[in-house]
Amino acid sequence: MTIDRRAFVRQLGLLSAGLSVPGLSALAQSGEARQVRDFRVVDIHAHCVVPEVAPLLDGTPFSDVPFIGWQTLSETRIDDMDARGIDVQVLSINRFWWYRADEVIAEKVVRLHDQTLSKWCESHPERFAALCSVALQFPELAAEQLERGVTEYGMRGASVGGSVLGEPLSSTRFDPFWAKAEALGVPVFMHPTSAAFLMQDGAFDGSGDLGNIVGNPLETTLFLSRLIFDGTLDRFPNLKIVAPHAGGYLPSYLGRTDVACDVRPNANCQNTRLPAEYLKDQIVIDSMIFSAEGLRHLVAEVGATQVVYGSDMPFNWPDTIELIASADYLSDAEKQAILGGNLESLLGI
Ligand SMILES: [Zn+2]
Repeated sequence: MTIDRRAFVRQLGLLSAGLSVPGLSALAQSGEARQVRDFRVVDIHAHCVVPEVAPLLDGTPFSDVPFIGWQTLSETRIDDMDARGIDVQVLSINRFWWYRADEVIAEKVVRLHDQTLSKWCESHPERFAALCSVALQFPELAAEQLERGVTEYGMRGASVGGSVLGEPLSSTRFDPFWAKAEALGVPVFMHPTSAAFLMQDGAFDGSGDLGNIVGNPLETTLFLSRLIFDGTLDRFPNLKIVAPHAGGYLPSYLGRTDVACDVRPNANCQNTRLPAEYLKDQIVIDSMIFSAEGLRHLVAEVGATQVVYGSDMPFNWPDTIELIASADYLSDAEKQAILGGNLESLLGI
């Protein structure tokens, strides 16, 4: 059964009667409507910075790391979430500058990240969860940090970059970390870093902010492809990976990936299953694709169980709640799963 699109969107708290554009117009009523909705909208893709770590960095090579004010957590974030009809955000810290740090600094930074996010989540238990920002350059330490983050600080998983300074995360060196994530049963959210270690020599210079627009999805595509072809997802069959930006280009060009092992004698494939199959159980993908046809194709390739809502707040990308709510090929149950239910199950929230 499908329900009326406008009624559904209104139920999400995004539209008041007579309005066709979600967002600003609905500011006044969306917080209230959020209260009466019978399911939650959960956002896997939400960033913040933690300026509390700045004093730790005095006199280190990281003393100039910026902590931009509008990316810090404050009550304004909750207002912004209400305006968009987001119930819960799963916070992550990206840019991963601490991947360059030595073990002493990295340990302090990650611990303070966790403590600070944990405190914020505890003071807003209905609205926030968080991911541990492990120091992946030290895989054993990262495994310990993840366990501590989950057991002591209530972290719901880990957040990692697409590589460690260019070293692919499918390298067996990182297996202790993957093993820990699998053993703890928590997902790993990978966020790219503008393909900084993918393409050098100005490949993304020029107009269009290509490092973000092309580089980010490219880095995600490469990251996921490596985890598949290098056998990481086979070595850890219960591992769950969450990929931002609609999974990069992988779901839109999956046919080529699927035939690689058959047609390329030098592919040296380590995967035991067709690449597409990993996208149906081990890889979860956010909704940041911004077009109706893009979302339709994504769901067609990976299934409604594997797509989750992502906003990339506090960055100002278009919201995808209405895109999901208005998708006529999705049942109400599938819409609710994509908007929140899939993440509730994955994260145990
Ligand atoms: Zn992001």
